[in-house]
Amino acid sequence: MTRTVYVDGEYLPYANAGVHAEDRGFQFGDGVYEVCEVRDRAIIDERRHVDRLARSLEELDMSMPMSRGALGNVMRETRRRNRVEDGLVYLQVTRGAAPRDFLFPSDNTRQTVVCLARHIAKDKGDDTSAKGIGVLTVPEARWSRVDIKTVMLLASCMAKEKARAADAKEAWFVAPDGHVTEGASSNAWIVTMDGMLVTRPPDGKILNGITRTVALEVAAAHDLELDERPFTVEEAKAAREAFVTSASAGVMPVTAIDGSAVANGEPGAIATSIRAAYHTHAEHS
Ligand code: PMP
Repeated sequence: MTRTVYVDGEYLPYANAGVHAEDRGFQFGDGVYEVCEVRDRAIIDERRHVDRLARSLEELDMSMPMSRGALGNVMRETRRRNRVEDGLVYLQVTRGAAPRDFLFPSDNTRQTVVCLARHIAKDKGDDTSAKGIGVLTVPEARWSRVDIKTVMLLASCMAKEKARAADAKEAWFVAPDGHVTEGASSNAWIVTMDGMLVTRPPDGKILNGITRTVALEVAAAHDLELDERPFTVEEAKAAREAFVTSASAGVMPVTAIDGSAVANGEPGAIATSIRAAYHTHAEHS
């Protein structure tokens, strides 16, 4: 349960934690966010997440609302006040509240900063990963700057609803050229029949996931062969393994694509081993 939410310098009871009706995050999706995993009370890969937040802000001509260290303190304090041992911390920064106008408000508009923390039992992800998840492929429907982690997530919500209606947990966006870009809230990977790990490079068509980055380090440490390139839906359906990565799901085996089993329909050995080794490579703060 989330008890306390950080809003603009204050820790407020959940029920009273609101932002202004003219917040640009609300009116225009004019904001960015990060989600960090919490494990054994530590925030996982905080440095990389805050670095990416800084990049997202810069790409949108927004400034940092406070120093990187202070943002880390807000996340840690929000976690502590909510007594979250395992789960996640969500941090959002918007361009602030101003009378509605497409044009950016003046530089002295105070940005809105929100942080919340939520408990998720460790077993939940492990139980799901022991079975694997299904994904549904859908046409890419997002704007062209998916490398920026904005709160403008409607296309992803629509895709995930479609996936749910098909009994799948995640949607994979597919570009007009037939290549998978990424999941609605995850990066997409396959292992080919000859054991090659394949995932799309950060070519502007994906969000460069922090979990993806760390999983690449795990793969290198395990001497796995890697081919960073886009793959097609047909290739994924014929693969030995498939999986997705995200801070909230970790390394999650994909056992079905569009209702058809990947290999024997069981979580793959490589995905399972990267998942098991993940937290020894990640940073804990
Ligand atoms: N791609 C998209 C579109 C996402 O929303 C996410 C999760 N926020 C990811 C990839 C995975 O990123 P990360 O590993 O940093 O959670």
